[in-house]
Amino acid sequence: MFPAEVYIKKLFFNAVGLIALWLPLLSSAVSAEKATVSIRNDVVPQLLVITSIKPLALIAQAALGNSINVEFLQSANQSAHDLTLTASALDKIHRASLIVLVGDQFEPHVAKVVQDIPGKALLQVLDLFTFDGEVDVYQQRVDPHVWLNPYSANVIGHAIQVALGVPQRDIISDIEIEVLKKTLEPVGTLGYISHHAALGHFADAFNVSAGMPIRDSNGGHKGARSQFLLRKAAYDGGAQCVFVEPQYADKDALVIAGELNLPLRTIDPQGIDAPLTENGYAQFVQSLVVQFQACFG
Ligand SMILES: [Zn+2]
Repeated sequence: MFPAEVYIKKLFFNAVGLIALWLPLLSSAVSAEKATVSIRNDVVPQLLVITSIKPLALIAQAALGNSINVEFLQSANQSAHDLTLTASALDKIHRASLIVLVGDQFEPHVAKVVQDIPGKALLQVLDLFTFDGEVDVYQQRVDPHVWLNPYSANVIGHAIQVALGVPQRDIISDIEIEVLKKTLEPVGTLGYISHHAALGHFADAFNVSAGMPIRDSNGGHKGARSQFLLRKAAYDGGAQCVFVEPQYADKDALVIAGELNLPLRTIDPQGIDAPLTENGYAQFVQSLVVQFQACFG
């Protein structure tokens, strides 16, 4: 999925970035020592990592531990797909030591702002992978929900650790992932309808069906013919529920669930309720698995 040479190139790039990142901190530490004791502690710059969306903040916090400050730009009622920048978001970007984005294809406005600030350390997580199977068939573009595959989340976590010079360790262990895989084994072949094409990476990691999405992987509407085919596929393929997401008040899902007489279930691929802690990413994936299972209960 990610050729070693690309990853190593990235690591090298990040290692160079890391040195650049620490230089201002080191030099201010030196000047603080030379200065008198009247220097206040609160002017010593503190590392701040800013991510575009909540799931990347879960990964960053788990990768860096509780002592490093991690914040994200997405607000609770904002979808990851239409992130807009408020004044306070711009301020956060300016204060950040490292900015982590999904990628400039996914967050073009944010990427543009960050790239226009000279010397800002930026990590775009889609650059860490090469995708072949995970292209959204409706849009012919990469499915951006890469954080839903815990193996990929570990790769992202490692890249963040390298960027900040923190020792590398996994944010979710292989054993934890194996346990969750086993939990989902009985429902692996069962069908469902999802709000949008968000669960492809999750399906890859856990050997379950990627489902039948009402909308494309960017949250956009599909045409009438696709809607008709979806209803037919859901009927033929024995969909067991319709997933809705907290960020979208979606009438389409309600209508389709009504027509096909299927229960509605909530799934939150953005982990809005998950805590930003060292164990937060693992907890997020665990609750995602529970939410997924509830479709077939
Ligand atoms: Zn999405």
